[in-house]
Amino acid sequence: MRALILGGTGDANQLADAFVREGIDAIYSYAGRTQIPLGHSLPTRIGGFGGAAGLADWLRKERITHVIDATHPFAAEMSRHAVEACAAVGVPLVALERAPWTRAAGDSWIEVADISAAVTALPEARARVFLAIGRQHIAPFAAKPQHAYTLRFVDASDGELPLPDAEVITSRGPFTLESDRELMRSRGIQWLVARNSGGTGARAKIDASRELGRPVIMIARPTLPERSRAETIEAVLAWLGHGARLGA
Ligand code: NAP
Repeated sequence: MRALILGGTGDANQLADAFVREGIDAIYSYAGRTQIPLGHSLPTRIGGFGGAAGLADWLRKERITHVIDATHPFAAEMSRHAVEACAAVGVPLVALERAPWTRAAGDSWIEVADISAAVTALPEARARVFLAIGRQHIAPFAAKPQHAYTLRFVDASDGELPLPDAEVITSRGPFTLESDRELMRSRGIQWLVARNSGGTGARAKIDASRELGRPVIMIARPTLPERSRAETIEAVLAWLGHGARLGA
C-alpha cells in the first residue's frame, strides 16, 4: 500500500499524524499557496500536478494504491481532478469531509450558492463586514466598495487589495469564540460573510455572530462528483485497512 493525501488542512495534518502512528506508507501533497509550517512528518510534495491528466500520470509513476482527498471543502478543482484521475487509473479514492455547519437556534443566516450571490446579499448602505473567505475570493466584493471590510488571511498580504476600505488581520487559527467575539465587537462588525467549511477550527466566528445577533451570509459548498466519503480519521483508517464500505 502507498497512499497519497491531498492536504493543506488541519484535518489532513491530523490524518498524516495517524498514518505515521500506524506506519502507513504515504505522501502528503500541498498546493503550495501559503507558507505552511509542516504540521506532520510524512514525506511531502508541493505544487499542482497539472490537472487531472497530470495527477493520473503522477499516481502511476509513484505507484499510488489509495488516494485520500483531505483538501478544504471549497478546493473544488483539486477534488474534481482527484475523482477523474483516480477513475482513469483505477485507484480507490475517499474524501475526508467534515459535515457542513447547520443553523442553530438564534442564527440569522442568508444561505447563498456562491461568492457572487454573497456580494449581492450584502446591503447597499455602508456596513462593517467581516469577510472570512480567503484571499483569492475577495475581488468580487469590489462591486460593493462602500463597505468597511475586515479580512483575515493565513499569510501577510502582499500586493494591492481590490477593496478601498479594508483592514487585514493575519492569523492561522484555530480561533476561539472569545477571540472572534472580541474581534467582531471591537470592530463593530455588522455582517459576516463565511463559507460553510464545517468542523471546529473555523466555527468560532459563526458562534460569535449568533451571540452578537449579527447576520451571516453563508456560502454553500460547491457541488462535487459522487465519491466515497469519510467524516473521521478512524473511518479513513478503516477504509484503508479493512476496505470498509463508506457512503457515496
Ligand atoms: P483548488 O482551487 O481546488 O485547486 C486549484 C489547483 O491547485 C488544483 O487544480 C491543483 O493544481 C492545485 N492544488 C490544490 N490543492 C492541491 C494539493 N493539495 N496538492 C497539489 N496541488 C493542489 O484549491 P484551492 O481552493 O486553491 O486550495 C488550495 C489548497 O489550500 C488546498 O490544498 C486546500 O486544501 C487548501 N486550503 C484551501 C482553503 C480554501 O478556502 N479553498 C482553505 C484552507 C486550505 P493542478 O490542477 O495543477 O494539479
